[in-house]
Amino acid sequence: MSILVQKFGGTSVADVEKIKNVANAVIKEKLNGSKVVVVVSAMGHTTDNLVKLAKDITNKPSPREMDMLLSTGEQVSMALLAMALNEAGYKSISLTGLQAGIKTEDCHMCARIVDIDTTNIKKYLNEDNIVIVAGFQGVCRDNEITTLGRGGSDTTAVALACALKAQRCDIYSDVEAVYTADPRVIKTAQKLKTISYDEMLELARVGANVLHPRSVETAKLNNMPMRVRSSFKLDDLGTLIIGVEEMELNKPVTGLACDASQVRIVICDVEDTPGNAARLFTLLAKQNLSVDMIIQSYARKSTNTNDIAFTVTKSDLEKFKSIEDEVNKIINSKNIFIDEDIVKVSIVGAGMIDRPGIAAKMFDTLARENINIKMISTSEIKISCLVEKKYSEAAAVALCKAFELDGAQVADVKGDLPVV
Ligand code: ASP
Ligand code: MG
Repeated sequence: MSILVQKFGGTSVADVEKIKNVANAVIKEKLNGSKVVVVVSAMGHTTDNLVKLAKDITNKPSPREMDMLLSTGEQVSMALLAMALNEAGYKSISLTGLQAGIKTEDCHMCARIVDIDTTNIKKYLNEDNIVIVAGFQGVCRDNEITTLGRGGSDTTAVALACALKAQRCDIYSDVEAVYTADPRVIKTAQKLKTISYDEMLELARVGANVLHPRSVETAKLNNMPMRVRSSFKLDDLGTLIIGVEEMELNKPVTGLACDASQVRIVICDVEDTPGNAARLFTLLAKQNLSVDMIIQSYARKSTNTNDIAFTVTKSDLEKFKSIEDEVNKIINSKNIFIDEDIVKVSIVGAGMIDRPGIAAKMFDTLARENINIKMISTSEIKISCLVEKKYSEAAAVALCKAFELDGAQVADVKGDLPVV
């Protein structure tokens, strides 16, 4: 019999009525003939509230105690859901990360899952239970409780689906599907029936916060089909995330996202000699500052200097400021310019591979709106432009129009949707 993994996010289990609604969604799949494993997040804003409690006590809580604290949130929702299923007449049991066999690295608050021993889950499934597993948590050496980083329940669900060789992993939240663009900004944004793992990963990286990126990476590695769907619209199939090979790519661009969480740092007049970039970025890496776009300008012959510009997230800006003097010292720069008034607008699409002219069309579209581009970066399936923040919406609207993201479905699977 096939196994289905369902994951319900915080909004889907925010109160008792919603937990009963989730129980119905689970029962529906059980009645369809699947063995069901359910992963839950903490109720509503529970995790945020727990973080706040810790902050009210100390600015530097021990990571171990944070994991002890945050892992309790999921335990509340898993037990309540098991009770709701029992009450509806179905056998169900809830399991913590430890009981579900989820082993992680020895690292608190951002651990990766390294192995899942499914013996216990399988035993309970074979006894006809619906198995509920606490998302976001596991154990490392000595059975110390760890968590996977905020939003990590998606990753718990996909990792379990892979370990159990499930037919599919359904991620339920208050988002009905993956859209071509943020529907709050682009009113005519379209729901995507399908999207490839790589496109989803790129969109996640450039600010479309639909899924925990590691969940998509895990699904891609194991070729595990995922669905993003809403627990409030059970008949809507949402978006299926699959391999690009299975998709019909009609259009070059699948989606657009705007990321306003970055700042641009420009280090001016850096001497054009070997080693400067290495010294600079080694120092940033040592501070755990992750850098996104990087541009080094053409060296000015007269002064033998160039400029190095890069972006970091706003939350890392203070960290950068604290090492500004050191930066000036190691690469002998004098002028550092920080620009917070920016937004990164990106278009993503597996269909742009081997199709020339997409970048030109993006730049031309922005130029027609009189929007100046401050920085550009590309990957095989993504083009990002940094523009002034006030143009965020205008750029998104114009690009959606140019690349037909506000029109009909962008990508579809070859033939019928695969039966997964
Ligand atoms: N409850 C955790 C969080 O809020 C994990 C999750 O919801 O995925 O980050
Ligand atoms: Mg979540």
